[in-house]
Amino acid sequence: MLERYFKILRGEVLPNFQIAKRIQVDRIPSSLDEKLEIHAEKMEELRERREKVEDCEAKPNLLDLKLSILQDYSKSCNLCERRCGVNRGEGEIGFCRVREARVASEFLHFGEEPELVPSHTIFFAGCNFNCVFCQNWDISQYPENGAIIEPVELSRIIEFRFKGGSRNLNLVGGEPTPNAAYILEVLRELKANIPIVWNSNMYMSRELMQILDGVIDIYLTDFKYGNDECALRLSNVPKYMEVVSRNHLLAAKQCELIIRHLILPNHIVCCSKPVIDWIEKQLGTDVYLNLMDQYRPEYKAMKHKEISRFLRFDEYREVVEYALSKGFKIRL
Ligand code: SF4
Repeated sequence: MLERYFKILRGEVLPNFQIAKRIQVDRIPSSLDEKLEIHAEKMEELRERREKVEDCEAKPNLLDLKLSILQDYSKSCNLCERRCGVNRGEGEIGFCRVREARVASEFLHFGEEPELVPSHTIFFAGCNFNCVFCQNWDISQYPENGAIIEPVELSRIIEFRFKGGSRNLNLVGGEPTPNAAYILEVLRELKANIPIVWNSNMYMSRELMQILDGVIDIYLTDFKYGNDECALRLSNVPKYMEVVSRNHLLAAKQCELIIRHLILPNHIVCCSKPVIDWIEKQLGTDVYLNLMDQYRPEYKAMKHKEISRFLRFDEYREVVEYALSKGFKIRL
C-alpha cells in the first residue's frame, strides 16, 4: 500500500506536481477551450514520461497551465459540484463564502495515519459543506478565520517544515477545494520533493478533478454517508452519493488513496455499511480503509438526537466486524 508515496520519500521518483513542472507547454493561450485542449495533450505526455522527465523545470509548464485554467474557473466558480458560478476573482462569494485563501493554522500533525506522520497539515478556512457535527466548525464555517499568506511565503514555510522532518504536505480545512488555485500557486513556488495529500470531502467538480490529476499524490478522502438523505440533512449537501462516489473512482485512477469513514452513532445501517459495500464493490478490499471511532457531538450536533452522543463501542465493533467479514484489512 502507498508504494509510490514511499518511493517519493526515498527519492526514487518525483512527486506529481514536480513532474508537471517538467512538462513543457509552448504557450498559454487566452481561450479556455484552447487551454483545455493543450492540457489534454500534455496530460498524455505526463503519463508517458512520468518516470523519465528532465532534471530541471520547464517554462511555461503544465503546472502553469493548470493554474491558468483554475484561475479561469474561479471567474465563474465551478470548483465543486455546487457550481455557484460566481466571479471569485472579483470578490463575489458563493456557498462556501471563501473569497481568498486564508490559512487558519499549519503544523506538524502526529495524529494522522501512521504512514503520513509527521504530516505538515495546512488548515484552510471555509468549506463547501455545512456539517452539523463539524469538529473544525470555528474555521470551516467562518472563512474569515485565517491569515492571508503570499504563496511564496507559504512555500517557504513548507520547505522549512520539510527540512524539519515532515513527510508530506497535507491540505485540509475546512476544505482545500475552494482554495485550489491558490494551492497551485504555492506548489509553483515549491522546490521540495514532497508528496501532496488532498485531504477532502471529495465534492470537487469533474473539471477540478481533471486539473488535480498529475498534481496530487494521495487523496485522503472523507467518505461520510451511505445515502443522499443523511448527507442533505446533516451536511446540507445535494447529490452526495453521485458526486462523492464518482470522485472516488476518478481518484483511484489518478493516484494513491486512503479512505476515511467517520462512524456516526445510529448511522451504522444507513451509512457505515453501505459505504463499506460500495468500496468493496467498486474499489475492492485491498483499498486503504480507515474506520474512525473518534466522533464527538460538536457544533450543532446536540440539535440532532441521533448524533447527540459519543459512538458506543458495540457500534464501532459492529462496523469493524462487518468490514473484516468482507475481507478489508482494518488496523485496530
Ligand atoms: S468552491 Fe465555493 S464558490 Fe466555488 S462552486 Fe464550490 S461552494 Fe461555490
